[in-house]
Amino acid sequence: MYYRLVCTHCNLQMNDLASFRCGRCGSVLEIDYDYGGLSLPRNFRRERIANSKYSPFLPVESLSAGLGEGGTPLVAKRLEWVERADVLFKLETKNPTNSFKDRGSAVEITKAMEFGFDSVVCASTGNMGMSVARYAQKAGIKATIFISRGGNPKKIMKIRKYGAKVIEVKKDFNEALRDAEKFASSEGIFLCGDYHYRKEGQKTVIYEIIEQLKYRVPDFIFAPVGNATLISAIYKGLREFRDLLFIEKLPKLVAVQSSGCDPLVKAYNRGEKIGYVKPSTIADAIAVGYPTFGLEGVDALRSTKGRAVRVSDNEIIKSMKELESIGIYTETGGAAAFAGFRSLYSDYKKSFRGKTVAVLATGNNER
Ligand SMILES: [Zn+2]
Repeated sequence: MYYRLVCTHCNLQMNDLASFRCGRCGSVLEIDYDYGGLSLPRNFRRERIANSKYSPFLPVESLSAGLGEGGTPLVAKRLEWVERADVLFKLETKNPTNSFKDRGSAVEITKAMEFGFDSVVCASTGNMGMSVARYAQKAGIKATIFISRGGNPKKIMKIRKYGAKVIEVKKDFNEALRDAEKFASSEGIFLCGDYHYRKEGQKTVIYEIIEQLKYRVPDFIFAPVGNATLISAIYKGLREFRDLLFIEKLPKLVAVQSSGCDPLVKAYNRGEKIGYVKPSTIADAIAVGYPTFGLEGVDALRSTKGRAVRVSDNEIIKSMKELESIGIYTETGGAAAFAGFRSLYSDYKKSFRGKTVAVLATGNNER
C-alpha cells in the first residue's frame, strides 16, 4: 500500500521512509495512506481472520516476516458480579510470543527486510524485546535489545534464547529508549519499538474484534497503557474502518494504567500536558514513565468520550487471579485492562447495562 510518513506535530513529510522521528521537530511520525487505492478481495469479510489478511491496510508489500500472529480468540465469559452486560476477552496471549507485540513486530521486521537492514535494535521492558528477537531470528536478522531497569529475568532469558544480544541498561524505560535511538543512529541499523510501523501492526487487533463481532461495534474497549501505542493504534484502526464505511460508530476507549505509573491517566483526567512519572509497579509491561504516543493516546480517549483508569498493583494481582479462575492466563500487565474494567464497573454499574465490553488480555510471559 502506498503511504506517506508525516510528523504528528508539524506535518512535515519525511522522504526517508526508514526515519523514526520528525527531522524538524523530533516528534513521532504517523503513516498516512491513500485508501482510494485500496483493493480488497471480494470475499474479504468471509476470509479467515488472521493478521495476514489485513496486509492491504499495512505499509508493506506483503507481511513477509509474519509468523502466524493474530487471529486470536475473542471469548465471552460470564462473571458473577456483572449484571446484564456482555464481557468479551481478546486473548492476545495466544500470539507466537504470548503477547500483542507480535502484530507490531511482524510489520517492523518486514520493513527492516524491505529496506535491506540486516540488524535491528529496540528498547524494551521485556515483551517487545522477546517479540522482536523472535521475529528477527526467524528472518535471519541480528537483534540487539536494550532492557530497562526492573526487566523480568524470565523474559530476558527468553530474549537470549531467541539469539538476540541483551544490553541491560539499569535505567528506566525512557532512558533505555534514548540509548536505543542513539545506538540505531550511530550504527546505522533499523530501530524497532513504539514508532509508526509498530503502531500500524498493532491496529489489526481492532479489525479482528470488529470482524469477530460481525461488524457490530462494542460499546467499550479496555486496553492497558504503557507507551500508548496500542490504544492509539486501536483508535487509528477504528477511524480507518469508519472512513471505509465498514462501521458507523466508535466504541468508548478506556485506558488503564498502574497507579504507580499513570502519566496518561493524570494528563487526561486533569486536562493537562503529559508529565513524566517515575515508574513503580509490578506490571513491568506498562512501566513507562513518559509514553511516546501519549498525545495520541489522550486524543483517542477524548475523541471517543472514553475514560482513563488507574489500578493498584493489588487490584492487578486480584484480577489476574480472577482471570485464572475463568481459564484466562496472563501476566500482571496483561491483566491490567481487566482490573480497569472491574474498577470502573464497580463505580458505574448502570453505565454498563446492556452493553458489550471488550477487554484486552495482552500478555503472558511472567511464568
Ligand atoms: Zn515535526
